Amino acid sequence: MSRTLCVIGDPVTHSKSPLLHNTMCQVLGLDFAYHCQTVKANALEDFLTQAKAQGYAGFNATMPFKELLLPYLDGLDPLAMTLGAVNTVCIKDGKLYGYNTDCPGYIAALRERGFDPKEKKVVLLGAGGAAKAVALGLCEGGAAVTVLNRTLEKAQAVAHLCPDRAVALPWDDKTLAQVLPHADLLVNATSLGMAGQGQFASFDFLRLLPKTCLVSDLIYHPSPTALLEKAGSRGLATMDGLPLLIHQAILALEHFAGVKIDPADVLPALEGALKTAPAG
Ligand code: NAP
Repeated sequence: MSRTLCVIGDPVTHSKSPLLHNTMCQVLGLDFAYHCQTVKANALEDFLTQAKAQGYAGFNATMPFKELLLPYLDGLDPLAMTLGAVNTVCIKDGKLYGYNTDCPGYIAALRERGFDPKEKKVVLLGAGGAAKAVALGLCEGGAAVTVLNRTLEKAQAVAHLCPDRAVALPWDDKTLAQVLPHADLLVNATSLGMAGQGQFASFDFLRLLPKTCLVSDLIYHPSPTALLEKAGSRGLATMDGLPLLIHQAILALEHFAGVKIDPADVLPALEGALKTAPAG
């Protein structure tokens, strides 16, 4: 009988994780059935009891559980411990083991794109959970990261994760004029540009970027975002949020199934499945 996997969150019904994981399991012949399970923040303990009792192999977690899960885990990957957030939990012998695959997933996505973070200068917009994972991955990969965020204290907390390689600065025109002309990579890790969220007040700052800069938006709905559209029309290379979504899922399935997955074996099927899936 197939072992059960799921993604929990609230809201979560829009999640592409069931599509990605079921597609990979089909391609690789892995016997898991992956579903989407809405869990309210106050029902996490009930879910964990149910998942253990029903022999779930594991689950992915999205808002609001990435941090809330930590006290319930029996083991935590060092990277997830540094970030204070998990997106992947394996259940073995009734015990919960947490991992964060957003961080290595983003670096895998960049490398697939031919971008090696070593000694690159990165400007990172945003300081939420996704920005943290991206900042840590980039710094560990040898990049120098400038974090700009609406709330400077949060940018400082992100930079504090890797004080040798990251700095936090205020997100204002003066700072943009200082840092963007030297950027090899600009990352939008804010929710600006996401369907149903706010938008950048102006895209004039794109003029400050060198022609060789890669512009990466973590958002995949819509794709391209207005930021990537404007960057593309200026001749800049762009990367949307789908490669991160895909690579964090591949790495999560490696944890669930205890196997190494060559992305080349699953990428065509994943890209095909995402193309035919409804947006959201
Ligand atoms: P989060 O923790 O809620 O952080 C949101 C960030 O956006 C914060 O830095 C926040 O600034 C900033 N922000 C929100 N509204 C803003 C505004 N009006 N002006 C300026 N800054 C604003 O969210 P998250 O989990 O990090 O996710 C961030 C984005 O990444 C989302 O769009 C999400 O969809 C995307 N994401 C994609 C993937 C993927 O697989 N591709 C994975 C994870 C996340 P303050 O700190 O000042 O509030």
